Amino acid sequence: MTVKVESDEYQELRAQVKLGSEINRKESFTSWVFSENQKCSASKLAEAGFYFIGSKNEPDAVQCFLCGKSLDGWEEDDDPWQEHKKHSQNCKFAKLGKPERELTVIQFLEIQMEVVRNWVIKLYENRKIEITNKQKMLKKLGRSM
Ligand SMILES: [Zn+2]
Repeated sequence: MTVKVESDEYQELRAQVKLGSEINRKESFTSWVFSENQKCSASKLAEAGFYFIGSKNEPDAVQCFLCGKSLDGWEEDDDPWQEHKKHSQNCKFAKLGKPERELTVIQFLEIQMEVVRNWVIKLYENRKIEITNKQKMLKKLGRSM
């Protein structure tokens, strides 16, 4: 049981690190509501850190690979970078505000490290919840005996 949980979590990390690359974010846009020559194109969104999470009901939902902010309701001349900064002021990628090709190697690695850091924090928080729940269950059991 534990092995499976870990494997899911590592899979999630692998997926997140993969989405840290612009080319993989771009590939996630299997369809998009605006064309490539519009300001809010799939390429521009991928450049600004977003990957596609849309569905039939939400055909324009995207999410940031780093801060996890999801946005929809895009207009064709929205600027993905501006929207990213506006809705997620603490996102380190949005703060850099530069496409991947303009980042230094150090900046790129720092962003990837941030992805790993966020994953570790989430893992820790999940473990804390699991342990708290187990403790509550044990207390209940102790009382009923
Ligand atoms: Zn972000």
